Amino acid sequence: IGFATLGITGLLLKATEVAGYTEPKPIQIAAIPPQMEGRDILGIAQTGSGKTAAFALPILSKIMALGSKRRPKTARALILAPTRELAVQIEETIRTLAKGAHISTALVLGGVSRFSQVKKIQPGVDVLIATPGRLTDLVREGDLVLADTTWLVLDEADRMLDMGFINDVKRIAKATHPARQTALFSATMPDEIADLARGLLRNPTRVEV
Ligand code: AMP
Repeated sequence: IGFATLGITGLLLKATEVAGYTEPKPIQIAAIPPQMEGRDILGIAQTGSGKTAAFALPILSKIMALGSKRRPKTARALILAPTRELAVQIEETIRTLAKGAHISTALVLGGVSRFSQVKKIQPGVDVLIATPGRLTDLVREGDLVLADTTWLVLDEADRMLDMGFINDVKRIAKATHPARQTALFSATMPDEIADLARGLLRNPTRVEV
C-alpha cells in the first residue's frame, strides 16, 4: 500500500517521496481515506506515530483543489497545538509537504511579536497553526475571523486540557464554520476529552494506533 492508494496525488504524492516517506504509517493508512471522504476523526495516537501527515495530507489535498482567492483575516484550516514547539514542528512538516504548491501557512504563538503574526494573516492564509491562548486574543480583537474556517485539527488534545486551554479550545471551535471537518488527536482519552470530542466531532471515524 502506498500514499496513492490512500488518495494522495500529484504534487503531494511527490512531496511524500521527497520527504522520504516510502510507505504510509498505520495511523496514515487508517486516518487519511476517511478524511479524504470528508469524515471527522477521533485519533488516539502518540508523538512519533506520523499523525501530523495523517491530518495534513487530506487538508492540503483539499485546499490545493480550491482557488487561491482568500478573504482577508481568515484561515481555511486551523490546527491547534498545546505548545510553541509542537506548533513550529507542525508548520515545518506542512511546508515540506506543500512544497511547490501555492499554499500559505502562518503561526500564531504566545511569547512572540503579535504584530508580525497579525500582518501575516491580514491577507488571509490557507493553513494557520496556533496555540490556543494567543489565537483567542487575535479572535477577540478582530484580527482573525474564523467563520469561514472549514478544517479544524486539535492536536495533543489531552495536553491542551492539562495546560488549561480547554475553554479557549471550545470557544475557538465554536467560532469556526458549523459545517467544518474536524480531527481530534490525543494520546490519552480522559472523560473531559471524550466529552470534548462528543461536542466537536460529527459521527467520527475512530482511529487507534
Ligand atoms: P509525527 O508523529 O507526525 O510527529 O511524525 C514523526 C516522524 O515521522 C516525523 O519525523 C515524520 O517526518 C516521520 N514520518 C511521518 N510519516 C512518515 C512515513 N510515512 N514514513 C517515514 N517517516 C514518516
